[in-house]
Amino acid sequence: MELQTKSVHAGSIRPRDHGSIVTPVFQTSTFEYRGEDYHDVRYMRLSNTPNHTVLGDRIAALEEAEAALVTGSGMAAISGVLLSLLSAGDHLLVQDCLYGGTNEFVSRELARLGVTRTVIDVQNPESWTANLQDTTRAIYVETLTNPLIQLADLESVAAFAKKNGLISIIDNTFASPVNCRPMTLGFDIVVESCTKYMSGHSDLIAGSVAGSAAHVRRVKKMLDHLGGHLDAHACFLLERGLKTLALRVRHQSRSAGEIARFLAGQPAVATVNYPGLRNHAQHERAARLLDGFGGMLSFELKGGVDQAEAFLSKLELPANAPSLGGAESLIVRPAAAVHGRLSSEERGRIGITDGLIRFSVGLEATADLLGDLRSALAAVQE
Ligand SMILES: *Cc1c(COP(=O)(O)O)cnc(C)c1O
Repeated sequence: MELQTKSVHAGSIRPRDHGSIVTPVFQTSTFEYRGEDYHDVRYMRLSNTPNHTVLGDRIAALEEAEAALVTGSGMAAISGVLLSLLSAGDHLLVQDCLYGGTNEFVSRELARLGVTRTVIDVQNPESWTANLQDTTRAIYVETLTNPLIQLADLESVAAFAKKNGLISIIDNTFASPVNCRPMTLGFDIVVESCTKYMSGHSDLIAGSVAGSAAHVRRVKKMLDHLGGHLDAHACFLLERGLKTLALRVRHQSRSAGEIARFLAGQPAVATVNYPGLRNHAQHERAARLLDGFGGMLSFELKGGVDQAEAFLSKLELPANAPSLGGAESLIVRPAAAVHGRLSSEERGRIGITDGLIRFSVGLEATADLLGDLRSALAAVQE
C-alpha cells in the first residue's frame, strides 16, 4: 500500500466494531478481565486500548517499522527512549543543534543520572570515531535541524552506528514519514512529536516511537512506569489527523518550495534556508534522501532584527507563534523565542542570527501567503 492509503487504513479494527467506519473512542480507564494473562489486561496507562494499538500499528506502517507506540508527547517519546536504553556510566553521541527540550533533557537530566554525552558535528563523519568511548551506547540526531533546516549525513550516521554497535535514534518531526522514512535508511529508532505534522492541526500534544518490536517493547515498559501514555481523546484526534497526513504535507512541501524561491528572489532578503533550493548546502543529499523538501523554511532580511520585527508585525496570515506543522501558518524569530535562552554568541556559533525568521507553512493557498509576504516586505521597505 502507498503511504496515503496506509494513513487511512493501516491497523484499523477488523471486523469493524459495530460497523463503525471510524475507530470509536474507548473512554475507559480499565477493561473487563476475560481470562487472559494478567499482564495483558487492558488499562489506559499501559497504552494497550484499541485507540492505542490502532495508532501504533498505523504509525509502524507509515514509518516502515516492525512496531510503534504512541506517547503523551514528543518529549515523552524522546525521554522514554533515552531512559529505556541508557544507564549510569553510559555515553551518548548527539547532534550539535538539537530541539531545546531534548538538549536540556540530555545535558541536565541524563547528566544527573550519570549518562554523559559528546556533541558531534553531524556534517563531518570523519570526526565521529575520535568521540567514541568504550561506554558509547547510542547516537542521536534529527532529520532536519531547527531552525536552519539542515540535513545530517543520515546514511553515514546509520552506517557508523551499525559498524560500532551503537543504537541509532532519530527525531523525524520536521520531515514526518511523508518526507523521510529513516527506518529505510538503517536507523534503529524513529521518534516523532505528533504534536506537529502527524496530527497536523495544532490542537493536541502527542508523540510516537517506531522501531523493532524489541525496542518498542522496552520503551513501552519505561513509559508504563513513567505514565507517559496518550489520552483516548487525543488518540482519536491524532488518528483523524493522520488520515490527511500525506495530503497536508505534500501541499505544505510544494507551498514552502514556492515561498522559498519567492523569498530568494527578493532584494530585501539576505538568505533563505530551504533544502529544496539548489544553493542549500545539502540540496543534493536532500533530493536523494527526502520525498519532498518539507514545509519548514527560515530566512533573514538584510535589515536585521528591527526590520524582522517590523515585518512580522505587518503579516496578516501567519501567527507569530512557536510550534509547527498545523493548518495555520506560524512564524517566529527564534532568537526571541525558542533559542532565547542562549546568549547571542552561543546562537552565533550554531548559525542562528538575531534577525533569523522561521516559517512553518500552513494549509492556506500559496498565492495568499505569497501576497501577504509581498505586502509585508513592501511595508518595511517604505
Ligand atoms: C516539538 C518538538 C519536540 C517536542 O514535542 P512535544 O510534543 O512538544 O513534546 C521534539 N522534537 C522536535 C524536533 C520538535 O519540533
